[in-house]
Formats: sequence, C-alpha cells, structure tokens
Amino acid sequence: MDDIPNNHQINSSDSEDEQAYNLEDEDTMYDEQADEKNAEWVKKQHPGATDAVLACPLCFTQVCFVCQQHTKYSGQYRAASVEHCRICDDQLYTFNKRGLMVPLASEKDIPNQNVYRLVLCRKCNTKIGVLDSDGFYHLFHVLTNS
Ligand SMILES: [Zn+2]
Repeated sequence: MDDIPNNHQINSSDSEDEQAYNLEDEDTMYDEQADEKNAEWVKKQHPGATDAVLACPLCFTQVCFVCQQHTKYSGQYRAASVEHCRICDDQLYTFNKRGLMVPLASEKDIPNQNVYRLVLCRKCNTKIGVLDSDGFYHLFHVLTNS
C-alpha cells in the first residue's frame, strides 16, 4: 500500500490544484446528513438530465452519463451510477477534517465514518474517483464532453 498517496491527489504528483477536493462546505461528504441529502438529490434527478458526460482522462472511455456538478468545485461530479468502471474493494479511504483523502487499512478503523472505495477506469485503470458507503460516486479525475 506504499504507493497510495495520502492526499486528494490520487493519480499524480502535480500540486497545482490544491483546492480540487476540499470538502469543507455544506456539501461535505462526511456530513452526518449525507444520507438525506443524497436522497433529495436523487429525487431532483430527471432521467436524461445531466450536468455533463464524464470520460476517463487517459483513455477517454465514457464513464458517466448522468451526474451532478459540484456546486463549488467545477471539476467534481456526483453520480448514482457509472459505466466502464471498476470498484476497488480493497482500497479504502476516508476524508480527514481538511477534506483530504486518507487511505484506510481496514473498514474497522473508523466504524462511525463513511468509507470510500476507489473507482478506476475499467479499461486503463486510471483512478477517477471514489464510491461512498451509500452507493454514490464522487468523480473528480475526469474529463467532460457535455
Ligand atoms: Zn481509462
């Protein structure tokens, strides 16, 4: 597990977008009300309506056709389902108080917090986001071609 970085920049060593996955706002992913917010969000979704079509940044495989753009961070999207992706059940993360991704050795480490699983492009294994414990995808390393 040595190769897993300990911050939000899960796919490269670039440091130019420190703001990219700061979750300290009302839409924070470790919010205790996340369940209700997700439910509300699902209700608002209309079939066929999406903020963008998302694609893998490396191989351009389309990975999501219905998503909601983050209200503050334009590079982040939330989705109820994805395509052509693989979930890594053995790569668990949580988010610390600063909103940075922190790798977890075991789900038992934080029984009272949400656990996130890494989401990879199935074709090229690029890390494109995470899957939360409620079954919602948070995609932040993707291209848009809406
Ligand atoms: Zn790919």
